[in-house]
Parts: sequence; C-alpha cells; structure tokens
Amino acid sequence: MTDSKTSSTQTRSSELMERSRRIFPGGVNSPVRSFASVGGSPIVFSHGEGKWLTSVDGNRYVDFCGSWGPLIVGYSHPDVVEAVTRQAKRALTFGAPSEEELLLAEKIQEWVPGLEMMRFVSSGTEATMSALRAARAATGRDKIVKFEGCYHGHADFLLVKAGSGLATLSDSSDAKNATAPRSAPSSAGVPAGAVADTLTLPFNDVAALEALFAAQGKEIAAVIVEPMAANMGLVLPRSGFLETLRALTRAHGSVLIFDEVMTGFRVARGGAAEAFGVTPDLWTFGKIVGGGLPAAAYGGTKDVMRHVAPLGKAYQAGTLSGNPLAMAAGLATLGVMERTGAFEKLEATGRELDSLVRARLGKALSAGHVSYVRKASFFCFFFGTSALPANFQQVSGCDMPLFGKVYHAWLNDGLYMGPSGYEVGFLSTCHERADCEQLVNTVARVLGQSL
Ligand SMILES: *Cc1c(COP(=O)(O)O)cnc(C)c1O
Repeated sequence: MTDSKTSSTQTRSSELMERSRRIFPGGVNSPVRSFASVGGSPIVFSHGEGKWLTSVDGNRYVDFCGSWGPLIVGYSHPDVVEAVTRQAKRALTFGAPSEEELLLAEKIQEWVPGLEMMRFVSSGTEATMSALRAARAATGRDKIVKFEGCYHGHADFLLVKAGSGLATLSDSSDAKNATAPRSAPSSAGVPAGAVADTLTLPFNDVAALEALFAAQGKEIAAVIVEPMAANMGLVLPRSGFLETLRALTRAHGSVLIFDEVMTGFRVARGGAAEAFGVTPDLWTFGKIVGGGLPAAAYGGTKDVMRHVAPLGKAYQAGTLSGNPLAMAAGLATLGVMERTGAFEKLEATGRELDSLVRARLGKALSAGHVSYVRKASFFCFFFGTSALPANFQQVSGCDMPLFGKVYHAWLNDGLYMGPSGYEVGFLSTCHERADCEQLVNTVARVLGQSL
C-alpha cells in the first residue's frame, strides 16, 4: 500500500483535464465527476485491477467508488473479462433477440422473487422513465410521487428535489423549502409543465405520506422511491416507512416502484426489497446488472408489465437494449458473486469497518464531529452531526466543507471515493481490513484525534 503514494503529482491529469474543459462542459461527461463540490481537479484514470485504480500520472488508489456501484467484484475480474472477450468475438450487437439477454433475465428472476416480467434498457435513467410510463399506462393516472434527495436519473419529470449531482447543484433554499408537495424543477431546461404531475415528499415522513394519499390517492399512478436512499449520503428507511408506502399504494391502486439501480444485487441478493421485507410492484435495476457496461432493467408484476409494447400500448424501445456484451458482463458478475459468497464476504468486511470506526472515531462520534452509517457494502460518513440524517433537509445541514477536507486527505493517502458529500462509499469483494483501517485513520487524523 506504500506505493500508492509514489508520486503525488497530477501533471498529466491536469493537462488532460485542461483539454477536456475545452470540449466537454465542465471537462466531464457526467457532472458528479467534476470535483465541483470538493474543490480541485478530477484525476484522470488509465486502468484498474481488483481494488486498485491507477491514474494517468501513475498514482495508485484503493477505490471505494467502484464506478458508482457496478464494480462489486472489483476492476477487471478475470471471469468478467473472459466473458466479455468471448462475446466480443461473436458479435457486439444484434438488434435482435439473443440467448445472453434471456440467461441474465432468468438469473435476475431467480435472485428477485416477485419479478414476473422485465425488460432491459441501457441506463438507470431509461429504466425509471420507462417504469413510470408503464405504471401510468396501467393505472390510467398521471400523478407520481417521489421523495426529496432520491435520485432517479435525469428524465425531465424526475428532476425535482433530486439527490446525487443535483444535490450539489441546487441551491439550499430548495432543500429547505420542504412543505409544498408540488415543486419547481431543480434543473434549468425543464419546463414547469414537465414536473406538474410530480409530487415530492420528505423521505421517511409517514404522516406526510398518509396526508397526501388521503387527499389525492385516487389520482396517483405511482410512487417511486429508493427504498434505501443512497444518493443523499446513505439514509435508511425508518421502521414502518416502506410498510406504510406498500399499504397505501395497494389500498389506492397506485403502483409502487422500488428504484434499486444502486441497491439491486448489492444490499442483498433480492436487493432492498429482500433486505427490508417489502415487495414493490415494479423494480428498476442498473449499475451491477451490466457488470460495468451500459445496461439497466425494469420489471415486476405481469399486471403492470403487460402494458409495455408490443404486448401493450406503452411504447418503449432501444437500439442497444439487451446488448450482448453488457449481458455477458452482468451475468459473469452475478456468477462470480454467487460462486464466491460475495454477500458474506462483503458483510464481514463491513463489520471490520464498523469496529474500526467505533475504535478509532469513538470520541469524534460522541462529540458530534461525525456520524457513520453502513448497510451491507454501503457506508457513509456525515460530518458535523451526531445524529444520523433521516431526510434530505438534515443531510444538507451537514458540514460539506469538512467533507471536502477529508476527501482531499483520502486522496493524499491513496484512497479514491466519489467526490461529493452526498455520495456513499462502496465496498467491493476485493477490500480488506487494511483498506478499511486506512480509510478510518485518515478521518481520525483530519478530525484531529490521536490514533
Ligand atoms: C445511478 C442511479 C440512477 C441513474 O442511472 P444512470 O445509469 O446513471 O442513468 C437512477 N436511480 C438510482 C437510484 C441511481 O443510483
């Protein structure tokens, strides 16, 4: 691990970013990569192996970002590389049915009880957009409900009080004005009309949910939720929240959609639905499902999915949907997880992290300098708070400048994380106790605690 600091120069990264800024808005192809919220300039990477990321400057980092989730078995797992290479030699795309898409779909069905029919698309954004279209088609209703700080991709009608990159972008007055269910878009370029049927509520607020359903339940086509919110740091559902959501949607004939693009195949085999014991009508998946290549999916009950074209009248299509290369990568990733007991390994690493946090950050935790939460292979530090945030408003109250300081200390110590205090850390099956130790020691040092 000492060689992770062989060079702290970023000359080549800086040169490439300077050229990138001339051609890509902000120098990047997705805003969360820009370092806008932590300061400094993005690192440009050249390759990854297992838990290691190497930059174009030759610096090595232990990676806790995993490309924002997909790389649960690490970079370039030999089985995944082999599966993709084998498929690449046969065909990159057919634009017609292939056996690969069927094999992955059947594997997903095996892991996710209750998923009767599904369709592959190419990004999480497409999955949530299409799931909501199917829900609206099935119910004949227009209104949808989402929760503040949950991110469901960048479709126009979902860019309201959204998490992830939007959390950093949107001004804090938006985050603090949590009362009116109907809100303005949080992105420019989204007409007010596009979000007129999008109602927003605070996460974990059962009373607000009950009030909304009492008033407008019969008009609500669907509720979409990250069952475990992981785009505003990590916010777990309070006991009763998902259960109430299930009961209310069922009672009012609304479709319940779990956006498991991030939690799917990570929080448990059957995702958050299994982990929290609540089954939705529809799921959306992404990230891990493509094993690092562009793939996502939506699906659920036949009752809703039979409305999707050509079986039904809700149109949805994609030139590269079910791309065989992505299917091969996804199938190989799930295969590796199955064969290697990934969930047990990840939980064991997570427990080591918990105990290191308790041992090294005990004083900082009780003094309210930091709070820490972990679920399965997700972890998150919130700075400047002793209580774990339960909704977006509380997350926005955390000390983001302090996060930025810790972030740069992590980088200096050879640890790479998603560059924003609104993002979570991801464990992969490649991480070991020593990696967790380094992660926690850096936090302890920055918080000025003796180790
Ligand atoms: C990442 C993410 C999306 C968007 O997926 P993309 O592939 O980036 O479009 C949607 N929902 C959740 C919960 C996500 O974490």
